[in-house]
Amino acid sequence: MASIGKPRGTRDFTPEEMERRRRVETALREVFRRYGYREVATPTMEHLELFTLKSGEAIVEETYAFTDKSGRELALRPELTAPVMRFYVEQMQMEPKPLKLLYFGNCFRYDRPQAGRYREFWQMGCELIGTRTPEALAELIALAYHALRGAGLEDILLRVGDLAPLRALLDDMGVEDAAAIMRLIDKGDRAGVEGALAGRPGADTFLEYLDCAEAAALEDLVGKEQTSRLTGVLDWLSDMDTPARLDPSIARGLDYYTGIVFEIDAPALGAEKQLCGGGEYSLVPLLGGTETPTAGFALGFDRILLALEREGRAPEEKEPLVYVTPVGEDMLRPAARLAHRLRRQGLRVDMDLMRRSVSKSLQHAHRLGARHAVIVGADEWARDAVVVKNMASGEQREVAVKELAAVIW
Ligand code: AMP
Repeated sequence: MASIGKPRGTRDFTPEEMERRRRVETALREVFRRYGYREVATPTMEHLELFTLKSGEAIVEETYAFTDKSGRELALRPELTAPVMRFYVEQMQMEPKPLKLLYFGNCFRYDRPQAGRYREFWQMGCELIGTRTPEALAELIALAYHALRGAGLEDILLRVGDLAPLRALLDDMGVEDAAAIMRLIDKGDRAGVEGALAGRPGADTFLEYLDCAEAAALEDLVGKEQTSRLTGVLDWLSDMDTPARLDPSIARGLDYYTGIVFEIDAPALGAEKQLCGGGEYSLVPLLGGTETPTAGFALGFDRILLALEREGRAPEEKEPLVYVTPVGEDMLRPAARLAHRLRRQGLRVDMDLMRRSVSKSLQHAHRLGARHAVIVGADEWARDAVVVKNMASGEQREVAVKELAAVIW
């Protein structure tokens, strides 16, 4: 029979990879916790409509959409903002504001797989509901930046922009399909933008605006009123120890973004370098809820791991493993009882479960990377003791059972 592989664009994770992923997940979570965020979870599948509402039918092409046995149009979630906002509208509108929600989950996109781009990937992200003060936005952006730093990344670049002046400029030019232009900007298709705006009065100003790197130049082009929100947020960010670059050309792919937007890249990753994207958006009224300000971001978890690898961050030392080796079948029970006791004390313990000889058992302990082997033999056991072998140095010595935990911890 032909062997069955995994679906294209998906991955299996080895125990070593999972240990790494969990460590990074824990480090990220810790930063969210410090900023007062609390976790929620939503289903892996949703009504397809949740994702087409604002993003349009075009998104269906990228979505794992299907009809279930009762004829319902469902989709595997391509992101978590719309699901979390659906949940908010259904059950959390009465919660005190601002409401700070964290999520971590797998997402599915029918993308063309390549390095850093998968069909199943993970996002950790958050939503901030109920405030639009510049300090709130800055705190959100600072969280994204410091979460990545907390995971161990050094070489990251944060850029912040504002869609409101961008949309106003497109309005002034009389552009009907602003979303199409925004998508071209998001893709970095400069020639496409120039082509679409060719001949329109104001096109030059618009292109100049996209290139502005300084607040003063931005103000000169569109006026202080249009730029004060963005410069306000940037000011707050410097108070929050968060280096940020002004980038008016951030457009974000999805249509529901409205105001301040930001992206964080790991330049070392090349084409798929974006680690994080987010900003202010409007979804609540569309989902039938009462208008309230909302902002959030999603971190591309898999790319964070790739970026850490690229930066050569050494994985932390593994939690030490103790290997318990009984000498002969008579010592199986005492060994098992000892292993149990050590586990209750919080140690990570493995025991020979294949009735191997002591030398084979020790070889196995070595392959597992155990720090210590605890050899349980009849003579020592009669004295309430065992032999502890330091697997790195090979040194062996007798240790009283009651002192064992202190010696091997
Ligand atoms: P988005 O919801 O498109 O703004 O994505 C947020 C983040 O998720 C991006 O910045 C990427 O880091 C990550 N991401 C998006 N699509 C994929 C994918 N197909 N594979 C891996 N990571 C992705």
